Amino acid sequence: MKLTILGSGTSQGVPVIACECAVCRSTDRHDKRLRCSAMLEIGGKNILIDAGPDFRWQMLRAGVKDLRAVLLTHGHKDHIGGLDDIRAFNWVKQAAVDVYADVRTKEAVYQDYAYAFCENKYPGVPDIHLQVVDDRAFHIDGVEFIPIPVMHYKLPVLGYRTGNFAYVTDANFIPEKSMNRLAGVEYLVINALRKEEHLSHFTLSQALEVIDRLHVKHAWLTHIGHQMGLAAEVSGELPPNVSLAYDGLQVEI
Ligand SMILES: [Zn+2]
Ligand SMILES: [Zn+2]
Repeated sequence: MKLTILGSGTSQGVPVIACECAVCRSTDRHDKRLRCSAMLEIGGKNILIDAGPDFRWQMLRAGVKDLRAVLLTHGHKDHIGGLDDIRAFNWVKQAAVDVYADVRTKEAVYQDYAYAFCENKYPGVPDIHLQVVDDRAFHIDGVEFIPIPVMHYKLPVLGYRTGNFAYVTDANFIPEKSMNRLAGVEYLVINALRKEEHLSHFTLSQALEVIDRLHVKHAWLTHIGHQMGLAAEVSGELPPNVSLAYDGLQVEI
């Protein structure tokens, strides 16, 4: 399985308009983050996690020619705001794209993209085949995905596990039952917004605590805000089995 980080940032990510902080002015590519998204290539098929406002550019930048499915974590705009551009893949495949989401996220997609789900659709609108998942495991072409329910302040969000890998974003709390579902993962992508407390996202130290409990071989931090600090500096403060994710990171796991 190949993991590609398409975006490691957030809507408070970098570069932020008119922000003069060191991160927003940095020329280091590790400080240039698009909105949070990742792709798994499994058996030659691409499974995308989230399609935020930067989706189109992320697909072009990574040269993605086909999408088997999209897994959505939750309905916030920085995670679903790019779904309209699914139409390009509809055209290539001449078929709908399967999009997996929990019932709450499905409602957000229906609301934001009402024109794609109405009767008598305008020609060319995105063709999204929404598949509702709950907390039970499901399969895509024989590959098992286990939803990992986490909390994003008061909003339930889904992380996903497949085999020895799990992806958790926009969490600030992981219930014990979900920690059990994460037990044994060797590779983990998890959100860490910044060092200071935040209402709805893990801080750096909170994310490190989760990583420590899970004893993973390697973890990458994502959904990083510009307030985290320069990648080159923060990297030096992390345990050896943890790194900051960056846009374009690819690993075979
Ligand atoms: Zn969110
Ligand atoms: Zn987010």
